[in-house]
Amino acid sequence: MKNIIIFGAPGSGKGTYSDEIVAKYNMGHISTGDVLRGEIKNGTELGNIAKGYIDNGQLIPDELMIDILAKTYDALGEGKGVIFDGFPRTIAQAEALKKMLAERNHDMGMMIELVVDEETLMARLLNRAKEQGRADDNEETIKKRFDVYHNQTAPLADWFEKEGLRHTFTWKGSKEQMLSDIFEAIEKENN
Ligand code: AMP
Repeated sequence: MKNIIIFGAPGSGKGTYSDEIVAKYNMGHISTGDVLRGEIKNGTELGNIAKGYIDNGQLIPDELMIDILAKTYDALGEGKGVIFDGFPRTIAQAEALKKMLAERNHDMGMMIELVVDEETLMARLLNRAKEQGRADDNEETIKKRFDVYHNQTAPLADWFEKEGLRHTFTWKGSKEQMLSDIFEAIEKENN
């Protein structure tokens, strides 16, 4: 399977659709948010650094993030395609990912962009706060994360467009519809 970069605002469903794709196509999955939350839970030095940024809705510095990503990717081992979930979030990270994969004779494969209106995003994140108790899912931090997304991450969509990798899926109220459109695109890419 080709690698997949899953891209979208906080609450757009990156984790949810990644899980569905992983289950269907037996791919590897790297969620940088999950990696960082694991480090925080284990009380590591990296976790302590990351916590300050995450609780504030800010991005972890690129250099640190790129290093974590490469280590996580190499630890997965060869063989199957990987979904990158929550990475890249800046142009510098995208350039670094492209280079890191090229050095290993791999490539980015395809980018899946999830477009969801902000009202739905906010409702989903506040609901997730109740269900999962994530420290950064409160209204104040969510608003900061939306700002960070608009300013630092959203411009990356054009970067992927230029690379010829962008596939956009817009939320119209049905998860089943999104999934079947996404699966169709993945299968087309891998034929
Ligand atoms: P997520 O679970 O993907 O929503 O990520 C939660 C938080 O982890 C983000 O708000 C950032 O603070 C941090 N984070 C996750 N991935 C990255 C990344 N690629 N670059 C910088 N910070 C990240």
